[in-house]
This record gives sequence, structure tokens and C-alpha cells, in this order.
Amino acid sequence: MEQIEKCKVISKTEIVNGVFDFTVENENIAKKTKCGQFLHIDCGDKSFLRRPISICDAFDDKVRFIFEVKGEGTKELSQKQVGEYIDVLGPLGHGFEIKNYKNPLIIGGGIGIFPLFKLAKELNSNANVFLGFRNKDRVCMEDEFDSVSKMCIVGTDDGSYGYNGYIANAMEHYIKNNPCDVIFSCGPMPMLKAVKGIAEENGIECQISLEQRMGCGIGACLVCVCESIFEGTNKYLRVCKNGPVFDSKVVKL
Ligand SMILES: Cc1cc2nc3c(=O)[nH]c(=O)nc-3n(C[C@H](O)[C@H](O)[C@H](O)COP(=O)(O)OP(=O)(O)OC[C@H]3O[C@@H](n4cnc5c(N)ncnc54)[C@H](O)[C@@H]3O)c2cc1C
Repeated sequence: MEQIEKCKVISKTEIVNGVFDFTVENENIAKKTKCGQFLHIDCGDKSFLRRPISICDAFDDKVRFIFEVKGEGTKELSQKQVGEYIDVLGPLGHGFEIKNYKNPLIIGGGIGIFPLFKLAKELNSNANVFLGFRNKDRVCMEDEFDSVSKMCIVGTDDGSYGYNGYIANAMEHYIKNNPCDVIFSCGPMPMLKAVKGIAEENGIECQISLEQRMGCGIGACLVCVCESIFEGTNKYLRVCKNGPVFDSKVVKL
């Protein structure tokens, strides 16, 4: 049963322009969190709609999440100060499934890198990580991912930092020449489509996290549905409840 929790903000940093890194205190959420799950946060704006934000990390009684200011909700949330309380529903959703993989690969783009951090840690620093950003000014968490992965490649779409071009291209080149038994991904839709295609062409298992627009967050309102390969009642799956993480072969992007 999903529970509403009060979380005290214990640290807040703007890590790149308009992107805020929050750590809040809440033992219940920290203990229950599985990587890839998200929080549904009451940002305190006029709309009264909660906003979904992925859990970046959770340990002891601490829960970390990082978000980009997009509209009214995230703007209001970014103005919360250390010591204030946030009203949070979570942890929600179906996260990444970790099996005994030999050569896991993680690929994230933009704000999609945040839910992949706890995953990289839980893969015991055994994953090869690819992170893509629009340009050098948007690059973040490189050192942190580097410290919890076997290898971390960063790229930018405009070539202003690291690998020059779409990070899915760097990943495709890598898997043609190196063993890989699973791909985990989160990021913008064009990147996810490319990753799904590359994984399927190469017969590699792939788990993707979708960051669809969302309403209730608990499976009741159907705002966040995505089309699946199934027929009948499972044709449309709810990202908030059945996901946000799906086997890439199951969803139509
Ligand atoms: C499961 C899940 C996990 C997420 N995790 C993170 C995270 O870790 N960090 C983070 O920065 N963001 C994350 N998001 C996206 C985040 O929820 C939205 O950016 C936020 O709800 C926007 O709210 P707002 O009130 O600030 O903007 P709004 O006023 O609601 O929207 C501002 C603009 O952003 C667009 N927008 C809103 N929601 C989305 C969305 N889901 N996808 C694409 N465009 C959208 C709107 O169309 C509009 O153009 C996640 C979304 C989901 C579904």
C-alpha cells in the first residue's frame, strides 16, 4: 500500500543550471526503495498535482532525487529549503530487475541518468556506463558514476565534451566489439527508441524506464499508459504501476 510520507530536506545543491540535487530524510522510503522506483511529490504549487521524480539513491534513512526545473511544479519544489518538509508518496512503480549478469551496460540521457545511479551501485561496480547530454553545460554526475562503474563514457550531442554525437551510437560501437548481456536505459524517447532497436538487433536483453507524463501515480487514472505488444486488457500498460521499467520488447515506442 502506497503511503504519504513527510520528508525533511537535509541537503540541496544546484548541480548544473536549473538542476537540483535534493537529499531528504525518511527511513520508511529509504528502506523500501528498489532501484528504478520513483517518488510522487507534492511540490506545493497551485495545481495540487503531484510530480513524479525518480529515486537517484536511497540508503540508511536518506533518499536522494535530482530534477530539472521544467514548469511550475518543479520550480516550486526547487525553492524548498533545507529544514523544510516535503510531502511524498512512494516509493512507487516497478523498478529494474537485477539478475546475475556478467556484462551489464547502462545508458542514460539527460535527466534520465538519475534513476540509473542506484542501479550502477547495485550492480557492484560491474557495469559499463554511457551517459549522454545535450552539451558540456548539462554534464553532471560523471565522477559519481565513474566511481561506481567499470567504465564510464560521457558524450555530448554537440561534441562540446567527451564523445562527439549521440551516446547510443557510442554504445552501439561498443557492443559490436565487447560482450554485453543486458542493457538498462532511461532518457529521452529518441534515445530509448535507438537503444531498444540496437538491443533487439543484437539479441541483448534490455530494460527501459519510461518517464511519461503522469497523473495519479498509483494506477488509477490512465494518464500515463503506453502501448504494449499484448492484445486485450494488457494492450495499454500503466507506466506508473506496470513500469516505469519495462522489458523493451514488451512496449511499442
Ligand atoms: C517515472 C518518472 C520519473 C521521472 N524522474 C525524473 C527525474 O528524476 N528528474 C527529472 O528532472 N524529471 C523526472 N521526470 C519528469 C518530471 O516528472 C517532469 O519534468 C515534471 O513532472 C514537470 O512538472 P512541472 O510542473 O515542473 O512542469 P509542467 O508545467 O507540468 O510541464 C513543463 C514542461 O515539461 C513537459 N513535461 C512534463 N512532464 C513531462 C514528462 N514526464 N516527460 C516529458 N515532458 C514533460 C510539459 O509538457 C511541459 O512542456 C520523471 C517523470 C516520470 C514519469
